[in-house]
Amino acid sequence: MLTQMIIRKLFNLRNANKRNNLKLSQRCFSSHLPELTKNRYSVKRGNYAVLTEDHKQFFIDLLGSTRVITNPDECLSYNVDWIKNVRGYSTCILKPKTTEEVSNILAFCNDNRIAVCPQGGNTGLVGGSVPVFDEVVLSTSLMNKIYSINDTSGVLVCQSGCILENIDNALEEHGLMAPLDLGAKGSCHIGGNVSTNAGGLRLLRYGNLHGSVLGLEVVKADGEVIDLLSTLKKDNTGFHLKHLFIGSEGTLGIVTKVALQCPPKPRAVNLAFLGLQSFEHILRTLKRAKQELAEILSSCEMIDASTLDVCTDNLKLKSPLSQYPFYMLIETHGSNNEHDQEKLNKFLEDAIAEEYILDGTTTNEINKMKHIWDLRERITEGYTKDGYVFKYDVSLPIEKFYSIVPAMREKLANEDTVRISGYGHLGDGNIHFQVSAREFSQQLLKKIEPYVYEYTSDLRGSISAEHGIGFRKPKYIHYSKSSGSIKIMKQLKTMFDPYGILNPYKVLP
Ligand SMILES: Cc1cc2nc3c(=O)[nH]c(=O)nc-3n(C[C@H](O)[C@H](O)[C@H](O)COP(=O)(O)OP(=O)(O)OC[C@H]3O[C@@H](n4cnc5c(N)ncnc54)[C@H](O)[C@@H]3O)c2cc1C
Repeated sequence: MLTQMIIRKLFNLRNANKRNNLKLSQRCFSSHLPELTKNRYSVKRGNYAVLTEDHKQFFIDLLGSTRVITNPDECLSYNVDWIKNVRGYSTCILKPKTTEEVSNILAFCNDNRIAVCPQGGNTGLVGGSVPVFDEVVLSTSLMNKIYSINDTSGVLVCQSGCILENIDNALEEHGLMAPLDLGAKGSCHIGGNVSTNAGGLRLLRYGNLHGSVLGLEVVKADGEVIDLLSTLKKDNTGFHLKHLFIGSEGTLGIVTKVALQCPPKPRAVNLAFLGLQSFEHILRTLKRAKQELAEILSSCEMIDASTLDVCTDNLKLKSPLSQYPFYMLIETHGSNNEHDQEKLNKFLEDAIAEEYILDGTTTNEINKMKHIWDLRERITEGYTKDGYVFKYDVSLPIEKFYSIVPAMREKLANEDTVRISGYGHLGDGNIHFQVSAREFSQQLLKKIEPYVYEYTSDLRGSISAEHGIGFRKPKYIHYSKSSGSIKIMKQLKTMFDPYGILNPYKVLP
C-alpha cells in the first residue's frame, strides 16, 4: 500500500517558465496605512450622531471599561481591513459577551441614531468589516462559546464570535468537521462567515452556508432578538428568514448564535498538486476529476504561475514542482484510503498518459498536505507584499473562467503594475483575480473598474462570488442584480433597520 506516491513525468516543456506581466524589479513591500476611506473614495457622512462622552459612558456602564475600547492606538486595528484597502476612524470599539448586551447596545444606538459597524474576525476582503467614518464597531470577539455538539445529528450550536478553526478543532473530538474551510480560518468568526455566506475551499463537496446553517439567532437594529435557532434539517413552516441574514453582511441584523450542520471528518484524505501547460488542460482535468473521482472529490483549485510566485518569492514557500504555467490542487475526502488512493492514482496515470497533466505529486501525509495547502491558502497574504492589491472575486462560466486575466493584462499593458494574475475555486467557477501595484492609484482603479464588472456581466457572471459587496462594490451591484431585486433589498433594509444604523455605506447602492 502506498502511503505517499509521487507521480512525476517531465515533458520537454519549452514554455513552462514563461511569465506574463511580471515586473519583479517593481516590487515593494509596503506596510503603510491606507488613506482614510472617506477621502480616497469621496464619501459623504450620513446624518448619524457624533459620539459623545455620555454615549461612551452608557457603553461603559453596560459592558465595563475593559470591554469598551477608546484608546486610539488600540482602535486602529479595528479601523483597517485585512488587505489594507480601506480605513475608518472609529473611536469606540464595543465587545459584548451576550445576546442581551448586543440587544441593549443596538436599542441604544437605534434610539440615538448612532451608526454601528458589526465586526467578526475582520478578514473580509471587500471593506465591509471596518467603519467608513466614525461608526461604533461592535466586535463579536468575546462571543466565543460553543454550546453543544451532537455526535449523532452532527449539529453544532455556538455563539457567532467563535473562530472557525476553534470550531473545527472542537468538532474533531466528535469525529466531525466544519462544513467550510478557508485560508482565514485561524481568524474569521462563524458569524462573519454566515454574514458573508463564505464559500471557501470545499464548497464543491459540502455546499454553501445556505445549506449547512440550520438556524440563527439575530438581533435587529432596534434591539429585538429574533430566535431562528432551529437545529432541524427539515422545517417548512413558512418563510425561512435565516436566509435573509446569510450573506447580508451585517446590514439587516447582528448574528449572535449559529446552528451548523457538520459532516463527519473523513477517514481518508489525499491531495494532489499538479503542473499543467494550459487552461484548456485545466478544464479537461476538472471534467475528468468530476467523472472519475466523483463522490470522493472534495476540492478542485487552480493557481496560475504568476500567483504561485507570490508564495515562492514573497513568502519564501517552496513549491514541490518545478515551474509550469498552471497548477491544480485536487483533494479527496473518503472513508477508505486504499480505495481512494487507487482511484486518485488511476485518474492521474490516465491524465498523464493523455498528456493533460505534465507533472504532479500526491500525498496523504498531514505535514506534506499542509505544505501544499499553504501554497494556496497564503496567496492573499503573499499579494499584500507586492504593495497595493486590487482584488476581485467573480463567478464566470467555466469555459471563460480564466479569460479575464489575459483580457486585463491586455487592457493594463501600459500601466505600472507588479502583477496581474488569477487563482481560485475552479470547481465552483469562482476566480480570484488580482492586479497588484506598488501603491494605490486612482488612474489604475479607473482602468480596472467598471471594466472588470462589465466584462463579468457581459458573460452573465457574478461580480461577487463569495466575498460579498461590502464597501467596495455597492455602486456596481446592478451588474449582477436586477433593478427589481435591488428595490426589494432596499425595502427589506428599511423594514429591518429604518434609521439605517447597521453597517451604513455597505452593500446597497
Ligand atoms: C487569507 C484569506 C483567505 C480567505 N479565503 C476566503 C475564501 O476562500 N472564501 C471566502 O468566502 N472568503 C474568504 N476570505 C474572506 C473572509 O475571510 C470571509 O469573508 C469571512 O467569512 C469573513 O469572516 P470574518 O469573521 O472575518 O468577518 P468580518 O471580516 O469581520 O466581516 C465581514 C462582514 O460580515 C459582517 N459581520 C461580521 N460578523 C457579523 C455578525 N456576527 N453579524 C452580522 N454581521 C457580521 C461585517 O460587518 C462585514 O460586513 C478570505 C480572507 C483572507 C484574509
